[in-house]
Amino acid sequence: MIAFPSTAAEAASLLAARPDAVLRAGGTDITDLRHRGLQRGPTVDLCDATGLAAVSLTDTGGLRIGARVALAALAADPLVRAGWPGLAQAAGGLATPQVRAVATVAGSLLQDVRCWYYRDPAAACLKKGGSRCLAREGDALQHACYDLGACIAPHPSTLAMALLALDATVEVEGGAPLTMAALLGDGSDPMRTHTLRPGTIVTAVVLPAAPTGVRAAYRRTIQRARAEWPLVEAYVHYEVEGGRIVRPRVAIGGVANRPLRLSEVEAALTGLAADADVEPALQAVDARAQTGIPANAWRARLVVPTLLDTFADARASVPSAGPPRPPAPPVAAPVVAPTPVAPRGAR
Ligand SMILES: Cc1cc2nc3c(=O)[nH]c(=O)nc-3n(C[C@H](O)[C@H](O)[C@H](O)COP(=O)(O)OP(=O)(O)OC[C@H]3O[C@@H](n4cnc5c(N)ncnc54)[C@H](O)[C@@H]3O)c2cc1C
Ligand code: SF4
Repeated sequence: MIAFPSTAAEAASLLAARPDAVLRAGGTDITDLRHRGLQRGPTVDLCDATGLAAVSLTDTGGLRIGARVALAALAADPLVRAGWPGLAQAAGGLATPQVRAVATVAGSLLQDVRCWYYRDPAAACLKKGGSRCLAREGDALQHACYDLGACIAPHPSTLAMALLALDATVEVEGGAPLTMAALLGDGSDPMRTHTLRPGTIVTAVVLPAAPTGVRAAYRRTIQRARAEWPLVEAYVHYEVEGGRIVRPRVAIGGVANRPLRLSEVEAALTGLAADADVEPALQAVDARAQTGIPANAWRARLVVPTLLDTFADARASVPSAGPPRPPAPPVAAPVVAPTPVAPRGAR
């Protein structure tokens, strides 16, 4: 059975009525999981749900991105490109043009891990309720090098990494809003790739107002030119004030079971001269690699070079112009009290 609800609220009530139902957005991940028999039950398809596919400025100059906005549309959106250029680069740089044309913002954040043991219907690993992580005992070559929890499948979402750096929040039908960090969780539960409650639906991602003059870049180190998840990916953005780097935001993905916001690197970058050698500051991330998984130490060695390249791209970028300000609300004409008119007989 496939249902096509016309609103997110209707979709949420269908999921409440059938807890075995599966929500589908662009279908690029869920279809693969269904073909492998890893997802069963009726489908609730969001393609007809209204109000989920727009990008707009908020009253405070932030950005509201509907959950069903396609990644290609996000990458091309003029508001996103003007105010959040690093996000546009990340959305336009992942997967393939074909995937980006149909994959959605919420589907991208909530997609499942690509671990080959997990995707194998015959393998029962920790994430599927089994007792062992088969990758730790077997082939973990494509897995995490930062050890955050029992499951070491790298978090697959490029967008989650960029939105973590941008302090985004998700709006949820049937639940309270969640910060990106809360949506992702800390990676300690091997059964969960995110913390969204079953039966609830992401309706939008909201970003705080963007300052102008941001230099931003997204970059990935990858085994082939396209159609592949990255070995390491990075998001960097910062502003320059008085010739110094201020308010840097740095995140990396592909290396742990969650994207990582690098607050230690951000602290080391803050206040450096805008044209300084940033490599020593980027090396601050190395402290985390000490907890790496030995077989994947080679992957940890790609982190600093990837950050360096990303920082160089950000430095060479055109500072952002910022999105156009929302039009000021019309000024109401002053209310002039009518002059009292005396009744005829009283004149
Ligand atoms: C060759 C290839 C390379 C790729 N490379 C990358 C890459 O580098 N980086 C990257 O990030 N991704 C990559 N992808 C994955 C791709 O980005 C995801 O498959 C896609 O973003 C999923 O979006 P979707 O709308 O198709 O989700 P779906 O497949 O429809 O759904 C995915 C999950 O999200 C849930 N979901 C969807 N919408 C909502 C909602 N509104 N509320 C609650 N739950 C929801 C679904 O129930 C499901 O669990 C790649 C894919 C391919 C095929
Ligand atoms: S890495 Fe995660 S998904 Fe892969 S085998 Fe281990 S527990 Fe399962």
